[in-house]
Amino acid sequence: MNSVYDCIIVGAGPAGAFCAWRLASQNLKVLLIESSKHTKRKVCGEYLCPKGVQLLHESGLGDYAESNFNKLHGMKIFTSRNSEVYTRFPNAGPFSYGLSLNREKFDRHLLNLCHAVGVEVHKDESFVDFTSYDEICEIRTSKGAYKTRVLIGADGRKSKVAQKLGFSEEATNHRVAIHAYLEPKTAFERMGEMHILSDSSYFGIDPIHENEINISLVCDGESVRKHGGMLKTWNHYIQQSPKLLKEFGCLDENTPLYAVSPIQHRVKSIHSRNIVLIGDAAGFVDPITGEGIFNAICSAKILSDELIKARTQSLTNYKPGVARYAEQHKKTLAQKAKLNRVFQWVIRHPSVVEFIAQFLKKSATRANAFVGVIGNIYSPQQGLIEMFKRKAS
Ligand SMILES: Cc1cc2nc3c(=O)[nH]c(=O)nc-3n(C[C@H](O)[C@H](O)[C@H](O)COP(=O)(O)OP(=O)(O)OC[C@H]3O[C@@H](n4cnc5c(N)ncnc54)[C@H](O)[C@@H]3O)c2cc1C
Repeated sequence: MNSVYDCIIVGAGPAGAFCAWRLASQNLKVLLIESSKHTKRKVCGEYLCPKGVQLLHESGLGDYAESNFNKLHGMKIFTSRNSEVYTRFPNAGPFSYGLSLNREKFDRHLLNLCHAVGVEVHKDESFVDFTSYDEICEIRTSKGAYKTRVLIGADGRKSKVAQKLGFSEEATNHRVAIHAYLEPKTAFERMGEMHILSDSSYFGIDPIHENEINISLVCDGESVRKHGGMLKTWNHYIQQSPKLLKEFGCLDENTPLYAVSPIQHRVKSIHSRNIVLIGDAAGFVDPITGEGIFNAICSAKILSDELIKARTQSLTNYKPGVARYAEQHKKTLAQKAKLNRVFQWVIRHPSVVEFIAQFLKKSATRANAFVGVIGNIYSPQQGLIEMFKRKAS
């Protein structure tokens, strides 16, 4: 335990691996600790929003992403009262499309980049606890102990780093996601789909490729108990959507289903001196806006930029960089997180969902501005201006 790392990062998801890669590319000494032995395909809708595509391009990963994953051109929104809103990502930013990733492939690629720039990667090792001194943090894992100048928690929605900091807060809801990869019967357009049901549950669909549809059901945990398990809950809800029922039918026990819970992760702060949280560890509201991957790489980029800057000022004191990250994080991501919380209220009120659907249906440019906000092409404020300034077309 003699050598001191510049940064120890806990968690090799997109947030942790992207951050580790960028820091080590600038010659910082980085240790990346990941509890899983193998990179797995996580429960995730796998949709990367247009702003995320831009971020990959700006980071030199655009060509990789575009040659490996299919484009998504917009989103179809279905309400419980059978309205359909057809939207396309507006042509207002450098990229007017998202991508259908495969998380196993994407996460592994990021990890390979880490290896290539000299990140020390410890798989099958779990972060346990830390002790913080003025400029050094000592961390203990399932396999050893290490010293670092900065400890970065990128360990997802159940972040142990956030817990040990005392930053985790009780969830305000108990949502569950049930997830499957299904084979379509008909050809899917290269569009995402959101099917909002009458009791605030919803199905999110991402057509990964012609033979594989990524589909997630998000519902209250209470529903799963009431219906008697994952399969029965799934089949209960699929019958509420005539379109999905026709496409996929009810599932039988041979279809692999995966569940995750809790979904929400609330934290009261994202930094303390030289300890900092990124990605889902820094907070996650709900997958309905499909931007967790973007948030993960965006927060990792902001933090790595600030730490690299801090290093030019002092070789040992990264605290000013951590503090600047926290400010930037708030400016960049907080407005959309607030909007996501508003959506949590909206989807619990079917008449409001229907009102919004009818409002969007009146004009294609209005509907596209709405999905421009969802895809982070517009900030919520810009999107509202776009929605109201245009006449119905
Ligand atoms: C149902 C569902 C659908 C979603 N759909 C989308 C979507 O379509 N688009 C989108 O952008 N986002 C989506 N998301 C969100 C997205 O999956 C996450 O936001 C994203 O994975 C966050 O990345 P991360 O690196 O912060 O965390 P993670 O990907 O969760 O990575 C955290 C890593 O930390 C490791 N770890 C945890 N604890 C420890 C420990 N103690 N020690 C060491 N390692 C540890 C874990 O093994 C994991 O590899 C969805 C989420 C859900 C639940």
